[in-house]
Amino acid sequence: MKPVYVTQPHLPPLNDFIPYLEKIWDSKILTNGGPFHQQLEQELCEHLGVKHVALFTNGTIALLTALQALRITGEVITTPYSFVATAHSLLWNGIKPVFVDIDSKTLNLDPDKIESAITPQTTAILAVHCYGQPCDVERIQKIADNYGLKVIYDAAHAFGVQFKNESILNHGDLSVLSFHATKVFNTFEGGAIICPDAKIKQRIDHLKNFGFVDEVTVVAPGINGKMSEIISAFGLLQLKNIDDALQKRKAIDERYRSALKNIKGIQYLSNSLENTANYSYFPILVNAEYPLYRDVLFQKLRDNNIYARRYFYPLISDFPMYRGLPSAVVSNLPVAQKISNEVICLPIYPDLPFEKVDYIIQLIVDEITS
Ligand SMILES: *Cc1c(COP(=O)(O)O)cnc(C)c1O
Repeated sequence: MKPVYVTQPHLPPLNDFIPYLEKIWDSKILTNGGPFHQQLEQELCEHLGVKHVALFTNGTIALLTALQALRITGEVITTPYSFVATAHSLLWNGIKPVFVDIDSKTLNLDPDKIESAITPQTTAILAVHCYGQPCDVERIQKIADNYGLKVIYDAAHAFGVQFKNESILNHGDLSVLSFHATKVFNTFEGGAIICPDAKIKQRIDHLKNFGFVDEVTVVAPGINGKMSEIISAFGLLQLKNIDDALQKRKAIDERYRSALKNIKGIQYLSNSLENTANYSYFPILVNAEYPLYRDVLFQKLRDNNIYARRYFYPLISDFPMYRGLPSAVVSNLPVAQKISNEVICLPIYPDLPFEKVDYIIQLIVDEITS
């Protein structure tokens, strides 16, 4: 059997991409906010139901730029339970991350624990909609308003997610998407900042182009974060297929849910009626009631050619550049530590056949029934 990975990018037929390439070869416009770049920003606004989109080369440069755009400094409250780029974007900006524990139901920043981590140096909250599960955006906003903090959402997992019939990306001061190959909507590499108004979008557009406003005016020490025409064109093609891809993911999600529902020691995240999910990941938590330790089940899956992943283990706060921080101590992050030791993300992607899903389920369920 060929190995099954946690995800596999969904690609359109190669021939469908040729006409886009012909246009680029004709026009010789390769980058710098060309026609495909503009069209993809426009179509993403419509598809996602957001006001402004600024495209980027990748999600990490978008995160760095979002922090620059809002002039964030000092300390920022963030989650240890995420991909490492979340906290790295703070260090690259000379900002001190302050880790706050997660909620055991959403696996996102626990609003109950944010306030006690705020100091006079705190300027913002950098939260993650982990696995596309919305943060408690209303309570986070309330805290931010009370203390005069900015809110940035790392929404790398949250493409297409809705909360109370509206895009989750409309919450906070800025939201950041990733279009990396492993994400629900991929453009090989890519990313975006979702902006609530034209003014901040303009500042971000300057920042991602070296700070240039016109030929002779540079207003900030900007970076080169622009998405190229070839990638923007590919994004337009991928967008045509995204609804179909999400439906296929949904069917796999449902199959896992119903098969693992009554398996002792295996839990998964609940589907809230308030949210529309994007089925980007299927994390399970393997607790003490299950016959195998998490890592033993993880290895068993590997031995059977199923390459599930322990997202997110280790915690960001356990990496060498973070573990010396006062907020990184184990006793400050008990829930994140526990979840990190229990989680396995099972394979889920549009082209994953049901037989493979059933095989994965069988490997997990066998331990109970045998
Ligand atoms: C993928 C990811 C990123 C980084 O995005 P890139 O496009 O790979 O730079 C940041 N944060 C989270 C939570 C991610 O999953």
